[in-house]
Amino acid sequence: MANYKGHLAGAVAVNTACVLGASLLPGELLAQTGGLFSNWQFVAFLYFISMLFGLWPDIDTNSKGQDIFFTAGFVLNIVLIWQGYLEASAYLGLLAMTPIIGKHRGWTHSKWAMLVVPLPIVLVSYLYRDALLPATVIIYGAAVAGYFSHLLLDGRITKYVRVKG
Ligand SMILES: [Zn+2]
Repeated sequence: MANYKGHLAGAVAVNTACVLGASLLPGELLAQTGGLFSNWQFVAFLYFISMLFGLWPDIDTNSKGQDIFFTAGFVLNIVLIWQGYLEASAYLGLLAMTPIIGKHRGWTHSKWAMLVVPLPIVLVSYLYRDALLPATVIIYGAAVAGYFSHLLLDGRITKYVRVKG
């Protein structure tokens, strides 16, 4: 039950563990990512993604995460309508309603959501740009790391860790 600063710090901590872990992978495996870990912008981007997904689960309540994602969704929806993608706009609107159906710490705070919500990151590159697949799998990992940190601090992974806030 950390506040948004606690969740950002949690996401940074878990993502750091993942980045350090990934940097220990054998050289051949790292080479498949095009040497992405020698690229500080990519590592910074991983932290950005991890922090976003560290805030995401609280989209189901009045929170910083809700402010960020609803503002981004609103702007994206305007762009979609403006560009004539009305069907995509309708689906985005439908998806945007799902977190506020049900109670706070409902499905957005479940372990399956931690794995499924970031999945479009990988699926989009798998379907359209499979050359980007190694990079997007790492980005997916950063998203899951951030999501995991949120559930951990909310006491959803183990009852022994729960941060009041
Ligand atoms: Zn939460």
